Amino acid sequence: MQQFQQYIGGAFSDGAAQFDSIDPATGKVWAKMPEAQREDVNAAVEAAEAAFYGADWASLTASARGKLLLKLADLIAENATRLAELETRDTGKIIRETSAQIAYVAEYYRYYAGLADKIEGAHLPIDKPDMEVWLRREPVGVVAAIVPWNSQLFLSAVKIGPALAAGCTVVLKASEEGPAPMLEFARIFDQAGFPRGVLNVITGFGPDCGAVLTSHPKVAHVAFTGGPETARHVVRNSAENLASTSLELGGKSPFIVFEDADLASAVNAQVSGIFAASGQSCVAGSRLVISNRIKDAFLACLKEKAEAVVIGAPDDMATEVGPLCTQKQVQNAEALVKASKQAGATVLTGGTAIDRDGFYFPPTIIDCSSAPDAPGLSQEFFGPVLSVVGFDTEAEALEIANSTEFGLASGVFTKDLTRAHRMIRGIRSGIVWVNTYRAVSPIAPFGGHGLSGHGREGGLQAALDYTKIKTVWLRTSDDPIPDPFVMR
Ligand code: NDP
Repeated sequence: MQQFQQYIGGAFSDGAAQFDSIDPATGKVWAKMPEAQREDVNAAVEAAEAAFYGADWASLTASARGKLLLKLADLIAENATRLAELETRDTGKIIRETSAQIAYVAEYYRYYAGLADKIEGAHLPIDKPDMEVWLRREPVGVVAAIVPWNSQLFLSAVKIGPALAAGCTVVLKASEEGPAPMLEFARIFDQAGFPRGVLNVITGFGPDCGAVLTSHPKVAHVAFTGGPETARHVVRNSAENLASTSLELGGKSPFIVFEDADLASAVNAQVSGIFAASGQSCVAGSRLVISNRIKDAFLACLKEKAEAVVIGAPDDMATEVGPLCTQKQVQNAEALVKASKQAGATVLTGGTAIDRDGFYFPPTIIDCSSAPDAPGLSQEFFGPVLSVVGFDTEAEALEIANSTEFGLASGVFTKDLTRAHRMIRGIRSGIVWVNTYRAVSPIAPFGGHGLSGHGREGGLQAALDYTKIKTVWLRTSDDPIPDPFVMR
């Protein structure tokens, strides 16, 4: 049985308690994880605070911070195979996806390495003589970063990268569902040469460890990825210290296909948009909004592809859909399909758990066209379940697309350029993909509207969000300041 350790103040330790981690491919315990208790969380925040004000980090130039991030990126690339294997083992995410994603995670750190010395202040043309006024962009302080299980190395890179580039220090809480890749990442980080305490990695249960961290008086900013309900806890907790927050939450993203679309591309994009990562993706295109003129043909093709998907062990390169992360997610998937059926939806394929060891659920398509109240159309769900609804007009497509409290991503497939522009304007979501889906880049901001959260990860804006402005007034005249109480 492997034993993982937490990383606090540059040292590795077992933590006050431990918990078992389960391999989703077998349903069996495979490793022991440190369970951070209040004292561990406090120690991690203290270490991050000491590092933030310590000369080793605070007096480092931005260019030097960038060089450290570059070294980290190289180490991630060198260790990508091991990180991918661990993420696959602990979360069930297939090795094809973890390998590709982790190679790209190194690029995120490279991007923020390059950005570190480009976070500039400003000079103001002030309306007073003999006065220089400028703005310094300074790091906000200690950042609490919280990530869910599904893509932890990636979701933490978009927090750690910009936060360190800006000069902050970080306490990262990995998800208790599959923390192994983050605890291993801490070992790699340790080799990059950052001063002690700049990054601390702990794991433990949300209501204890997470709540203590997000309400800690020394935390200046909470960067959270997870579900809206947990986000509400996080915001309430962060009110203790009036810490700022950035929230990357869930979605119920519409994937809209018009009759003039390139149908073969749209089918492939929809398959990866919902079944990649077994649907455990915040941007999953989980609502297919499809023109009634092509609906039957499109669904026939989609069903054929869904049924041909290779389901198997996540560490097999041939596997296209692996297990879900937890048994609970399998039960949730069954419950969602059942409730949608009761509301009048038709199951076109899948819908029941696969009878084998591990937490397997097949690619599932449910037609909700005559069941507008089916929960499959409204409930955010992390699994390979696609809900379908047909439309007759463009206005109807837009109305359906926007009939959600979420607003993370959307996809529009059409060859009509003017229609594409109308849809881009009308859709309420943080990301619109046109004739593509699920593309991401360190250069492009990522984030949502509505219940999908606020703040942006990726791009320059993400780094600016980890800074605060200090306004400096400097009087340039050598004349003495006159006595204000002497009348002239
Ligand atoms: P949760 O919201 O349950 O958990 C997210 C993280 O918050 C976990 O680390 C969890 O710890 C922690 N947590 C739980 N309770 C608290 C608390 N009271 N205070 C502080 N932290 C807490 O999400 P899931 O793990 O179920 O992940 C799935 C969700 O994440 C989905 O809603 C999905 O859409 C969203 N997501 C959003 C993404 C985006 O970029 N927009 C990307 C990926 C996922 P623990 O695991 O120990 O309970």
